[in-house]
Amino acid sequence: MKVFYTRRRMSEAGRYQTRSTHRRSSVATSAAVADLREDERLTMAECPGCKGWFPEIEGPTHAYLTVSPGCWARFGRALALHYSDYRYWPAHQLLTDAYSLQHSRSADRRTLRSTHVHLGSLYAQLRLGQAEARVISLRRALSEFDFNELPTIWPTPSTSILDVDMSCPAGHLTTVEVFAKAVLNDWAAFHGLADRLCRIREKQHARTP
Ligand SMILES: [Zn+2]
Repeated sequence: MKVFYTRRRMSEAGRYQTRSTHRRSSVATSAAVADLREDERLTMAECPGCKGWFPEIEGPTHAYLTVSPGCWARFGRALALHYSDYRYWPAHQLLTDAYSLQHSRSADRRTLRSTHVHLGSLYAQLRLGQAEARVISLRRALSEFDFNELPTIWPTPSTSILDVDMSCPAGHLTTVEVFAKAVLNDWAAFHGLADRLCRIREKQHARTP
């Protein structure tokens, strides 16, 4: 599924838009598109994971995450910020877990592991308030399991990485937290599973001398 969009509109907005905001502003968008030359138009495509609309580019994607090249490129841009500027680093774990969970939507064995690992990790941080070291330990423990296929339909995304600010560290940290909470909320039907995943680690702790 594709839609024509414009460079001008993306520039005015300061970032690309999600499908939901695109729908709300469809009248203004049509007027803006009519004013542009054909060569200013840019083809957009929907990401199969987060349902956001991104430039339809030729580019790499992940081996088993359900993600479009345009969405993957924007996540890569965020990672570049994290690794190049320490002020962005505090957002790294939350963004990685939320983004990976959002795009782990298939029955592939590796994808299912990603779903469980990042669901547990996100839940541990946002709902249980667990410290970073314990969350890392949980993630490592869950990575050693194979998981059965999930029986319910995938959540409907309410947000995408388009809503994450890339312009300054403070804005980035704030919007990543909002993004992560929204993703976890989208996965509310799986919170029981998330709680059980976190308790798996607690049982392992209990066996530790
Ligand atoms: Zn996406």
